[in-house]
This record gives sequence, C-alpha cells and structure tokens, in this order.
Amino acid sequence: MDVVVVGAGIAGLSCARALTDGGARVRVVERGRVVGGRLASKRFNGRYADIGAAYLVADDPDFSAQVASWESRGLARLWTDTLRVFPGGEDSTGPVRWAAPAGLRSLAADLADGLDVRLSTRLDALPEDADAVVLAMPGPQALRLSPPPAIAAAANAQSWQPVIAAVLTYPAREWGELHGAFVNDHPVLATVCDDGDRRGDGAPVLVAHSTAALAAQHLDSPETAGPILAAAVGELLSLRSEPEVNVHRWTYAQPEPTDAPYAADGRVWLCGDAFGRPRVQTAWLSGRAVARALLT
Ligand SMILES: Cc1cc2nc3c(=O)[nH]c(=O)nc-3n(C[C@H](O)[C@H](O)[C@H](O)COP(=O)(O)OP(=O)(O)OC[C@H]3O[C@@H](n4cnc5c(N)ncnc54)[C@H](O)[C@@H]3O)c2cc1C
Repeated sequence: MDVVVVGAGIAGLSCARALTDGGARVRVVERGRVVGGRLASKRFNGRYADIGAAYLVADDPDFSAQVASWESRGLARLWTDTLRVFPGGEDSTGPVRWAAPAGLRSLAADLADGLDVRLSTRLDALPEDADAVVLAMPGPQALRLSPPPAIAAAANAQSWQPVIAAVLTYPAREWGELHGAFVNDHPVLATVCDDGDRRGDGAPVLVAHSTAALAAQHLDSPETAGPILAAAVGELLSLRSEPEVNVHRWTYAQPEPTDAPYAADGRVWLCGDAFGRPRVQTAWLSGRAVARALLT
C-alpha cells in the first residue's frame, strides 16, 4: 500500500510511523522547512524557544509509553505539575507536564527519523499516485486541497481560534519561582511560561500566548501585538527590564473539540488535534488511529 501523508506535524508523523511499522510505503510531504507543525521550537540568539505547544500531558497509556521512550532517551523531561493562576497568583496543582531539553520540536524530529519526509513541499491538490492520502492538519488547511465531501464536511465543522506567541528575552531572570501561569479574564494575555525553566537551561526567556481576541485583531501584522504582550507580562509579574520581543502568529491554533477520532471518505483521510481535546496527545492518537484503520 502506497500512502501519502500531507503534514509533518505530530499527527502526520505518528500516522506515518505506525504505517511504516505496519509495512506500508509512506511518503510525508510538508510545506514547512522543518517538521513539527505546531509542536514548534524556533531559534533566537542561538537558543531554541518553544513557540507553539507549551508542554505535553500524557494520560493515554499508549501516548504515555511514547513519552516514556522519549524520556528514557533524554529527549523529554518531566517539567512540573504546578502552574500559577491569575488573577490571584495562587499555585495550582494539575497533571504532570512534560517538556523537552532541546525544544518540543525535537520530539517530532525523533518521530520523523528514518521516514521519507519531503520538506518545503506544499500540496495544492490531492496526489493521484497513492492508494490513500492522509491530510494531517487543521480542517481549514485541508479544504485548500479540495477534499471529497465527507472530509470537506468534517473540516467545515471545525472551529478554530488564533493565538500570537511572544518570545520575551530578558537581560536576567527577575521573576523568582515561576514555571508558568494561566491568566484568566485578561484582555490580551492567556498564558505565560518560563522557557528556561521548562527547557532546563535557566535562560531568562518567557513565552506569552495571547488571547484569541488579541490575535484576531493583529493577525495581519502580528509584530504589533509584541509590545502589548510584553507590557502585559511585565505588569503581571512586576518586571522592571524591557525584553527583546519576537512574535509568531498561529492562525489555526486551537480547535473546538469534536468526538470522532478522524474523518474518512474513500481513499482520503483527515486527522489531527481537532479530533478530541486540542492537545499534542490527541493529534498523536488521531494520526495513529488512521494508520491502524488503513492497515486493517
Ligand atoms: C500557541 C499554542 C499553544 C499550544 N499549547 C499546547 C499545550 O500546552 N499542550 C498541548 O498538548 N498542545 C498544545 N497546543 C496544541 C498542539 O500544538 C497541537 O495539538 C498539535 O501540535 C497539533 O498537531 P497536528 O499534527 O494535528 O497539526 P499541525 O501541527 O498543525 O501540523 C499540520 C502540518 O501540516 C502542514 N501543512 C498544512 N497544509 C499543508 C499543505 N497543503 N501541504 C503540505 N503541508 C501542509 C503544516 O505546515 C503543519 O506542519 C498548542 C498549540 C498552539 C498553537
């Protein structure tokens, strides 16, 4: 069986990995210059910062085994179960969050190792030369490939919110003990994470994620959201220094959860994090569920 997987995010890579392990011939095509999609780490001043997913949570047994494999090889590290909640500034204990010393994208790179991945290759139509085509991406992106009716319907049923991420590099750490924080009821700020703490190198770098409302206002010129997010973080944590600010726009950042594990129409399949709670684990499971269905 020849399969083309379109999208080298975590869903596409877990699908391709499972298909390859099951004996299929798989080609992965990715429009970006690197794998990972929203599991993204970008280099600023020679150091990677996580600009997409902030961390992993693993409560599915199979994904937990995948995370354990990454941990055993030094690729993933247990970060924290405690994040601060604003307003109020109280610490709140929740699930264990996992991070990656080399940045979360390194986990996608590990899955991609040994696969046939064609980078910088954007598809504008479904490939004809495959027994199956797996669209592993947000529904609105899948619609650009004119998929068959059931895929188009599933994609159209998805609802997405944008996020702008701001990487804030300070001269020195001046925020004391902070892993990360959820910021509720704030007009511009949704989360702040200590990237030096989660990566484990202690770098004075915070990553802020905007509210969907701020992102929607600044989608055409995301850099204009940078100073707004930096000011909001400075005020929240009572910081004196001005950071260097770099921003990244995620037009399709967070979907509303749906129930099915994937969508299918003939030889075309759609998977990703819209099929469940919008998390890395969901994307990984969705891609693998498509692979299993194809292999049987
Ligand atoms: C700001 C932000 C914060 C987040 N925080 C967390 C978190 O803390 N914890 C968590 O678990 N999850 C988090 N998430 C969600 C998590 O990142 C996603 O659930 C997961 O990475 C989605 O993977 P995916 O493979 O489904 O999609 P994507 O990662 O979006 O992959 C889709 C891929 O398809 C490619 N593609 C699209 N169209 C084409 C085309 N025509 N041709 C070729 N390639 C194409 C894209 O370039 C992309 O690489 C966050 C996401 C964002 C944006």
